[in-house]
Amino acid sequence: MISDGDLPRLLAEFAHILGTDFSVETVLDHLVRRIVEILPVAHACVMLMGETHQELRVAAAGSEAALRIGSLEHQLGEGPCTLAYLSGEPVLITGVRPDARFPGFSARADETGLAAQFAFPMRLNGDRLGALGLFHTAPVALEHADQQAAQLLADVASAYLTRAFAGIDAAITAARVHHRNLHDPVTGLPNRLLLEELLDRVVARARRSRTQAAVLLVDIEGFKAVNDGYGQHVGDQLLSGVAGRLSRTMRPGDVLARVDGSKFVVVCEDMVDGARPETVAERIVIALSAPFEPSGHKITISAAVGIAFSGPGQDIPEVLMRETDFTTYPVIQNNPTRHQSIAAAPRFAADHRADLERDLRQAPGRHELALVYQPIVDLRTGEIDGVEALVRWRHPIRGTVMPATILPAAERAGMIGALGEWVLGQGCRDLRHWRTTGLDVGFLAINVSTQHLMGPAFAPTLARALVDAEIAPASIFLEFTEDVFLADAGRALAVLREIKDLGVRLSLDDFGVGYSSVSYLHMFPVDVVKIDRAVTAQLTTEGATRPMLHAIIDLGHAFDLTVTVEGVETAEQLTDVTDLGVDHAQGFHLSHPITAEELSRYLGSGIGQE
Ligand code: C2E
Ligand code: MG
Ligand code: MG
Repeated sequence: MISDGDLPRLLAEFAHILGTDFSVETVLDHLVRRIVEILPVAHACVMLMGETHQELRVAAAGSEAALRIGSLEHQLGEGPCTLAYLSGEPVLITGVRPDARFPGFSARADETGLAAQFAFPMRLNGDRLGALGLFHTAPVALEHADQQAAQLLADVASAYLTRAFAGIDAAITAARVHHRNLHDPVTGLPNRLLLEELLDRVVARARRSRTQAAVLLVDIEGFKAVNDGYGQHVGDQLLSGVAGRLSRTMRPGDVLARVDGSKFVVVCEDMVDGARPETVAERIVIALSAPFEPSGHKITISAAVGIAFSGPGQDIPEVLMRETDFTTYPVIQNNPTRHQSIAAAPRFAADHRADLERDLRQAPGRHELALVYQPIVDLRTGEIDGVEALVRWRHPIRGTVMPATILPAAERAGMIGALGEWVLGQGCRDLRHWRTTGLDVGFLAINVSTQHLMGPAFAPTLARALVDAEIAPASIFLEFTEDVFLADAGRALAVLREIKDLGVRLSLDDFGVGYSSVSYLHMFPVDVVKIDRAVTAQLTTEGATRPMLHAIIDLGHAFDLTVTVEGVETAEQLTDVTDLGVDHAQGFHLSHPITAEELSRYLGSGIGQE
């Protein structure tokens, strides 16, 4: 029988693989190989028979014997896997004997040398995908726990496949649409829309690989005069000529786009040591300095190259993605009289950031920081079980600044620790106040950023805040995200243990996006797993989400964790997550984050006080 820990381990591995871009075949191959290791079977295969994916009609991954079964079923159009696929029920056969449900197959089953065959349907939301087949050479039965494990794995594989197919379909459609709508008809280069999309991907890749990137803007000065003087036909030829020369200065993988009449953008990823954006800019200027000859007219252009961004790719400022307008950046010109040396830093973005950071440093002293609280509801009772503190910055001119802006600015300004301490202190004081006025808000969940948690002496700081406000540690849940493990798993474990030793409980926040290894759930001393709101949002739109969530919930409960779902925005989502067995929920449908005073009023009226 399957041993304790094998299934979670395999699910953890599988979750890890999902984050990679291995091919479907590789993933299925790995899955069936591991299934044979953990379940008492000799062979396994995944047979895909979905009508919608003709090209994969019978794809069997696995051993030779399993493949033989696959092709026999395919040839005969019947067999245990085919029946499981058609009926949606597991088919369990021990011993080779005639079976009325698939007479042709059972007559020839001994050819395969397999005496036990177990098939589990792979379905998702009524979409039939195929079956997971497990086989044994001896006529042995499959125990109930193993059957359950096999069906869970078939479900997880179905969810994966649905997602992978959706990805393949989307990629094909996207490729077609891209070419039509996302390219500049004159040069054939990506247009502004596509550039934005490509920049998103550059940032995502750079986040993973932590590499340097540069974004350069090339502007052809006087282009309008060429267009007006020689006509659009010549103008178009000139642009094509410029595009051709630009693309020859680039390395494979760099992005070149035409974003506007005379403006091109070059994105260089993976700037390895020594590669400077200035060098790229100079190369471009040189390439464009020789005359062009569209339709026999000799035209010399003046190009200005601005370095709009240069630095770690994950920091490419958002403003660049929205407005590809770099006129404020320092430039290199090929017009010798106006040659300027350049600073590689994006001046505009840097100024903007510097202002923000300066203001933020002053925010605590000016009493501009505030906490709002979002109720967390126990789905069994429908009552508020606790609240989560969320930071806000009430700036007199900027308005209310949200954590998505505050937190990165605080990190850059080196004040993430100070901000975190303020949040801890204020949260504990508010909780104390509610308690002394007789209001029961339940527990208080406080977010901690990875940098603060992993910094020096987090646990003692937390302990001090609790003592100062006279708060019992068990009233506090500390919410952290899985990047603490990616940063330094050993240190993370030590810090989390220190926190647990204080008596404070731990919530793993934003689970289900990003890396989401289920192994974290049992390797680290976590009490609560909070499913990210992106997962909730996909519940009704993406078929693959539900079984994934199901598996996470089951696993969470198997490890004695409380499962909380964030981002419940509709009654339908609330019913859905309640039915799935989620313990706690929060979201706009239940309550928006509200101020401490609003919460007091709400709870006060709820228990009969003014
Ligand atoms: P989180 O911990 O996952 O907090 C939940 C976020 O989801 C909050 O965003 C909340 O306003 C938002 N939210 C709640 N219900 C719904 C809903 O139904 N739909 C949608 N679309 N959103 C919902 P917020 O306040 O912008 O905070 C964003 C993140 O910033 C938080 O995510 C948390 O990771 C971080 N954060 C917030 N306050 C603090 C803090 O004091 N310290 C630290 N270190 N991080 C904080
Ligand atoms: Mg949170
Ligand atoms: Mg969250």
